[in-house]
Amino acid sequence: MSDVVTMDKIVALSKRRGFVFPTSEIYGGLGSTYDYGPYGVALRRNVKDAWWHAMVIERDDIVGLDSAILQHPRTWEASGHLESFTDPLVDCRACGQRFRADQLEDNRCPQKPSVHPGEGPNCDLTEARQFNLMLETSLGPVRDEGSIVYLRPETAQGIFANFKNVLQTSRRKPPFGIAQIGKSFRNEITTKQFIFRTREFEQMEMEFFVPPPDAEKWFLYWLDARERWYLELGLSEDHLRLRPHDPDELSHYSTGTSDIEYLFPTGWQELEGIANRGDYDLRQHAQYSGEKLEYFDQATGERYVPYVVEPAAGVDRCMLAFLVDAYDEDEQEGEKRTVLRLHPRLAPVKAAILPLVRKDGQPELAHEVHDLLRPLMLTEYDEGGSIGRRYRRQDEIGTPWAVTIDHQSLEDRTVTVRDRDSLAQDRVAIDALPGFLQDRLTGKE
Ligand code: ATP
Repeated sequence: MSDVVTMDKIVALSKRRGFVFPTSEIYGGLGSTYDYGPYGVALRRNVKDAWWHAMVIERDDIVGLDSAILQHPRTWEASGHLESFTDPLVDCRACGQRFRADQLEDNRCPQKPSVHPGEGPNCDLTEARQFNLMLETSLGPVRDEGSIVYLRPETAQGIFANFKNVLQTSRRKPPFGIAQIGKSFRNEITTKQFIFRTREFEQMEMEFFVPPPDAEKWFLYWLDARERWYLELGLSEDHLRLRPHDPDELSHYSTGTSDIEYLFPTGWQELEGIANRGDYDLRQHAQYSGEKLEYFDQATGERYVPYVVEPAAGVDRCMLAFLVDAYDEDEQEGEKRTVLRLHPRLAPVKAAILPLVRKDGQPELAHEVHDLLRPLMLTEYDEGGSIGRRYRRQDEIGTPWAVTIDHQSLEDRTVTVRDRDSLAQDRVAIDALPGFLQDRLTGKE
């Protein structure tokens, strides 16, 4: 595990450079919730765009949806969440902490000596009880039992509830999918894992509806497609693996689930789950709502409830994996450098525009270059401090290209483009710069 950076370094860089801040920090924080700063927002947006591109824009067979966070409470009865979206919880009467009963081995008792909960001399654990992870709120001015609604714990159910609407309006037929990106909420017990597990997070889920005999084929297809997506965006192959669920881990309705796991600083953990869910969800919602949720094939006269294959990923966990994988430290001209080797598509800032000196017309020309690139990509103008310091600042946030304007630029309207990874410097005419960078961004060069 030696090539994996520590979580402390990722947390420190995220704070120092404005990727991730603890929520409500000025009030002492709020358990397991985080805010995303300027570079964090840009990185997350790029992760979501890359997913949306691969899922919706580049395909004919998937359409998008944005369903509400608050849904009819019957949704969660039908989906089984009200009954069984629970984790086993134990309390310690001695220290007042709560732990997941099935993760005692991964936790530490907060009292000394530091041992697993239940193993310390004073530990006094209660029996495990089931704890529902859904967060509740109420709708309307009177708070009573009839007003309780839940913040969705996953985006998928909004897709199932809209199956008929989308089928009727999008002129699609199985195999076809509905993709959604949006916030989900879970009252997680195990916290303190930075943005790996938070109580408010964002998911990227796609439900792919298929004729039942084809479900296994599509399940294998999506395992492969989703793993490739991560590799194409630069995650190292050694840090990624597929882990099929053991039979006792499978949901009762699933005939197959595999996790794409990533080697986080805390070890191998789930990055995305891909499940063959059968017709469970549509049948449940049909039963609870009284609506027919099925596909009628006019050509063959066949009527059936499609099976569903679901790739479900988390934006925050993806972002963490990309940060961990990109983190590197090396030495440049005798100085230590921290660099995020993010794929250019994911990098928050694509190009930094740096006049070598703050005089002789260089800032003016640099502003002209900045204005030329600004409509095409997120860029940053920086004239403060030595050029070496400015390069290092950009390396730390993963900016793939630094465009430097020097005295020669004023004579022949060329600039140098420094590559974050190879450190090669190319001299490029200002007029050709947008094309030069665009080609690299789209992988043409
Ligand atoms: P875990 O076992 O880690 O709790 P899960 O199997 O419950 O995850 P799913 O319900 O399959 O997760 O959700 C799909 C994806 O949503 C996960 O692979 C993960 O990327 C993301 N996700 C789920 N819960 C959280 C959370 N609390 N914080 C951040 N991301 C989450």
